[in-house]
Amino acid sequence: MRDPDCIFCKIVAGELPATIVDEDERTLSFMDIAPATRGHALVVPREHTPDLLSIDADDLAAVGVATQRLARLVKDRLGADGVNLLNSCGAVAFQTVFHYHVHVIPRYEGEPVRLPWVPAPGDPGEIAAAAQELAGK
Ligand code: AMP
Ligand code: ZN
Repeated sequence: MRDPDCIFCKIVAGELPATIVDEDERTLSFMDIAPATRGHALVVPREHTPDLLSIDADDLAAVGVATQRLARLVKDRLGADGVNLLNSCGAVAFQTVFHYHVHVIPRYEGEPVRLPWVPAPGDPGEIAAAAQELAGK
């Protein structure tokens, strides 16, 4: 299945240019055109699906395995010191392209990428209340 208006479907179909670095039966990995760090790549399923909530479980697993391949490559070949994986699900969570993808972001000692929140201890009662709702209790 594909979405005729989706840029990542067009990349998968070879109708838009992309710098492909890895592929298999279910996934394609290509360089992000606006990289956070050197070697920043995106892993997508070949099948169109908007986000984490909709993706087929086998495609999700295949993307997961492909992100591990990429993570190993950026360490082995680019000399990254670490890796962040990022998926944004929903516009409020920074998603801008609505074809599921995982960012593989190589991390290098001394570069200035920061977490998008400031870690601080939460209110224990509120954490417990959220947990109860999540667990359906
Ligand atoms: P997100 O904001 O999590 O949905 O991520 C979308 C990512 O796709 C951004 O990091 C963009 O830089 C990247 N992007 C958008 N168009 C292209 C393209 N044609 N080729 C490669 N990366 C792209
Ligand atoms: Zn698509």
